[in-house]
Amino acid sequence: DVSVELRDVTKTFTEEDGSTVVAVEDLDLTIYDGEFVVIVGPSGCGKTTTLRMIAGLEEPTGGDIVIEGRDVKGLDPRERDIAMVFQNYALYPHKTVHDNIAFPLQIRKYPDEEVEQRVQEVAESLDIPGLLDRRPSDLSGGQQQRVALGRAIVRDPAVFLFDEPLSNLDAKLRIEMRTELNKLHDRVGKTSVYVTHDQVEAMTLSDRVVVLDDGQLQQFAPPQELYNAPANKFVAGFIGEPPMNFFTARVEERGGEWWVVSDAFDLRLPDEHDAKLREWTGDLGNAEFGVRPEHLFDVAVQGDPGEGATFDVLVKVIEPMGPHMDVTVAPVDRPDDEDAEFTARVSNESDVSIGGRVTLGVELDKAHLFDGR
Ligand code: ADP
Ligand code: MG
Repeated sequence: DVSVELRDVTKTFTEEDGSTVVAVEDLDLTIYDGEFVVIVGPSGCGKTTTLRMIAGLEEPTGGDIVIEGRDVKGLDPRERDIAMVFQNYALYPHKTVHDNIAFPLQIRKYPDEEVEQRVQEVAESLDIPGLLDRRPSDLSGGQQQRVALGRAIVRDPAVFLFDEPLSNLDAKLRIEMRTELNKLHDRVGKTSVYVTHDQVEAMTLSDRVVVLDDGQLQQFAPPQELYNAPANKFVAGFIGEPPMNFFTARVEERGGEWWVVSDAFDLRLPDEHDAKLREWTGDLGNAEFGVRPEHLFDVAVQGDPGEGATFDVLVKVIEPMGPHMDVTVAPVDRPDDEDAEFTARVSNESDVSIGGRVTLGVELDKAHLFDGR
């Protein structure tokens, strides 16, 4: 069943000088019961505004929001059956952990017995029963964030809303809490809408990801699909680390084969690109060829994929990463052009040296073409 639906939702802010900012434009989203949906995109793309509209902290300028079958227009946050967790935990400093978690139940006049039982359950599920008598100031950032989560899940709302809840934590704790959130969702199975600017968080937590840019929906798909089949160049460049390399290129048909030609290479596309290219409405003379660093390899280590799938480059920077190395390379005839540099993720057995030449192979079935206009 549908849990949360946004229909053609737009939010425009008017500044003091009368100018307007379109924060979210014509956004359609259908989120199903129990889904964990992550909204991701660069700073200012409209993530928080979208979440605040679902929560009832902002009213849309246009469009409708439906939660559990109910049009929520005009309903304030308390009437929407949602619970929210923010980046700054917003705990009550003068209350104990116990009372912070109990508060949402107490204001809704739950019987004392039930309050006690639920607080205990939640504390145990978040591994914080020992902290119930402390105050927030006596807790670490990670513990505070657990309490904030506890306060959200102690009730049984239809939808959880999270706005960058982990971004104030250090890297190690963030990964730990990510796993914790994953487990929590598996256990509780509640519809969750989670905002982050961190694509790794988006990929690891989500059932499906909403990619926003400049207030507009770019793609709404499971994480693996975003990676394998990005809808456009923005999504392709945003998802994946290190980011996808892009080359301005021209696509040519040569004797029934498709070739991609750029300053750096001539590459022959495998047959699976054929149907796509025949239907392509873009300009073949002005394309963007995209290949992820992990789909480039050192031919000397991994073997020669044959004609039309390799090209030579110069090595500029080597970053050993343990199981592999990220090397920054440049086309052989543009050794000093920083704009032409790109990244290859090669085997740690690769015998690369700075200033040296290396032949890269390309996994062309995993490469992408985008319209360059
Ligand atoms: P994100 O959470 O993705 O960083 P926001 O939703 O906070 O983005 O903001 C989207 C856009 O709307 C930005 O350009 C931001 O400056 C603008 N904006 C957000 N809230 C307000 C507001 N209350 N008044 C004016 N502009 C706002
Ligand atoms: Mg935000």
